[in-house]
Amino acid sequence: MNAVDEGRRVQEASTSAAKQAEAVESLYAKRVEIYPRSKIGDGLAWFQKWRWATVWITQIVFYGLPWLMWNDRQAVLFELVARRFYIFGLVLWPQDIVFLTGILIIAAFSLFLFTAVGGRLWCGYACPQTVYTEIFMWIEKLIEGDRARRMVLDREPMSPRKFLLKAAKHMAWFAVALWTGYTFVGYFTPIRELGAEMLALQIGGWSVLWVLFYGFATYGNAGWMREQVCKYMCPYARFQSAMFDQDTLIVTYDEARGEPRGPGSRKKSRKDLGLGDCVDCGLCVQVCPTGIDIRKGLQYECIGCAACIDACDHTMEKVGLPKGLVRYSTTNAMRDNLDPRAMWRRVFRPRVLVYGAFLLAITAALAVALSLRVPLKVDLIRDRGALAREADGGQVENVYRMQVSNTTEARRSYTMTVSGLPGLAVASETRFEVGPAAVASIPVRLLADAGQVTPGSHKIAVEVRAEDDPGVAVRETTTFLGLRR
Ligand code: SF4
Ligand code: SF4
Repeated sequence: MNAVDEGRRVQEASTSAAKQAEAVESLYAKRVEIYPRSKIGDGLAWFQKWRWATVWITQIVFYGLPWLMWNDRQAVLFELVARRFYIFGLVLWPQDIVFLTGILIIAAFSLFLFTAVGGRLWCGYACPQTVYTEIFMWIEKLIEGDRARRMVLDREPMSPRKFLLKAAKHMAWFAVALWTGYTFVGYFTPIRELGAEMLALQIGGWSVLWVLFYGFATYGNAGWMREQVCKYMCPYARFQSAMFDQDTLIVTYDEARGEPRGPGSRKKSRKDLGLGDCVDCGLCVQVCPTGIDIRKGLQYECIGCAACIDACDHTMEKVGLPKGLVRYSTTNAMRDNLDPRAMWRRVFRPRVLVYGAFLLAITAALAVALSLRVPLKVDLIRDRGALAREADGGQVENVYRMQVSNTTEARRSYTMTVSGLPGLAVASETRFEVGPAAVASIPVRLLADAGQVTPGSHKIAVEVRAEDDPGVAVRETTTFLGLRR
């Protein structure tokens, strides 16, 4: 290969590399910083009040619940190591997984039902991502100022003032995030002990890891990622369209009323100018936390927060036009120009009724199962090392180990009885005590008259009953082995 060919080959290679780089670059969309405007007029707007109400309610519950006490212990505690879940008066054991499954199914069907009726109500008002973003944006506004000031500050070169403002914001974010991580871990390990361990610098490695992990996740998601979590990471945002139909409430722009849009004039009416009601003020876009324009129709980025409804209503009020150009409505209501009554009548459609019926049935079944739950569990295990042996007085002896779980929070005494074979009797202790929310391992010796027990296996029953409440009883079946002659 001569020098010219070599030069051509190098040039071709570099051109193709440049083309590849260009292709890769075009696939990557750089995040455009969004500066949502939070202030619309004086005081809080209608849906903004609802959003703040849910922020307060969810956060009072989340931060407050681990500090509540019940019977000298934390009211809500999911002790994974001890495998006990405490929810106020209810103590769930690993055997009670069915109740937890029931609670999760109820949560899932509630989500299906509310999404079918009200669209992204969860996303817009109660999702932790929305709630923490709202809190972090409030802190940001408090320290750096509202939208216009933040935009100016971000364009400014670094200065001592800018550095101080940014440092204060991040420190406040960090404090909230770490407290959130600490609270989260406090649901799995007693929060008071965790706090004392932290103060004494004796906290365990796993607890530190989880506090930091959850804290950093909150800081990163609510401080930095924000709308990107909803747009690119949240799986619920992807599959919820399957729960939408033409009668699901969504935040909609009334295109027929609003278009053609334009600022209008003081001298001529909008009608004379051939304009619709949208004055193109851009307020609905400025307040949107995901940076979209609702006037372009339903978009998957829309989290249904209704900030654009508040913004547009404010504008409509100012220009003297009826509110509701951007409003909660349904695709059918928009298309067929339905009045609100006709629109709400369509709420009770088959899909909603099926979700509602399932939800009611599962909730009722769970309530009945919980009310019938016996706070005692018994497991009888045959001693594999000694199947059956001849005891004194011509008797046959079988040995077992019995695990008795007292799922109440009080020490309890129990008695055991056996049945199933003539002359079958308990040769070990028949009365025993088990501590609150504890398991006791009880050795059990059963004797039967050898003359009454034929060789082979016989089905017998062991019954354990609480002394203070005869209704608390569990009957377990097992086998008693006779000796070969
Ligand atoms: S379009 Fe409106 S409802 Fe949707 S995310 Fe933006 S402000 Fe919220
Ligand atoms: S806030 Fe209302 S009037 Fe203003 S641009 Fe948005 S839709 Fe048009």
